[in-house]
Amino acid sequence: MAERKISKCNRGCGADIYFDGNNPEGKTPSGGWVPIDVKTNRKHNCPNYNAGGEVPTPKPQMTKPQMLACLPYLENTRAMLTETLTCLNTDIAEIKRKLSSDSFKQASTMLDDDNGEVNLP
Ligand SMILES: [Zn+2]
Repeated sequence: MAERKISKCNRGCGADIYFDGNNPEGKTPSGGWVPIDVKTNRKHNCPNYNAGGEVPTPKPQMTKPQMLACLPYLENTRAMLTETLTCLNTDIAEIKRKLSSDSFKQASTMLDDDNGEVNLP
C-alpha cells in the first residue's frame, strides 16, 4: 500500500485525513483533491463544512488599506439605500393615504354592489 501522508483536517474538526488520487472518492469530477477520512477511508464529510469535501482554496484576505479604500463606496451605497428607503416610505405613506381615502371606499362599495367585480370608471 502506498504511503499516506496523514494530516489534520484544515477546517479544524480534528479529524485525520489524507489525499489519495487512486481513491475514486479522492478526486472531484473537476480534478480537485478531496480529503479522505483515515477512519473510514472514504470522503471526509467535515462537520465544519456541510457542502461537500472539496479542498477549499484560501480566499485572498483584504488588507486594511484595501478595506479602507472600500469605505467610501460603502458609505455611498448606504446613502443611496437610505435615500431609496425614504422614497419607499413616502410611497407607502401615499398608498396608505389613498387606501384610507374616499376613492377607495367608493371602490369597495362598487365591489360589494357588483358581485365581486370592480367596475373601473
Ligand atoms: Zn474536517
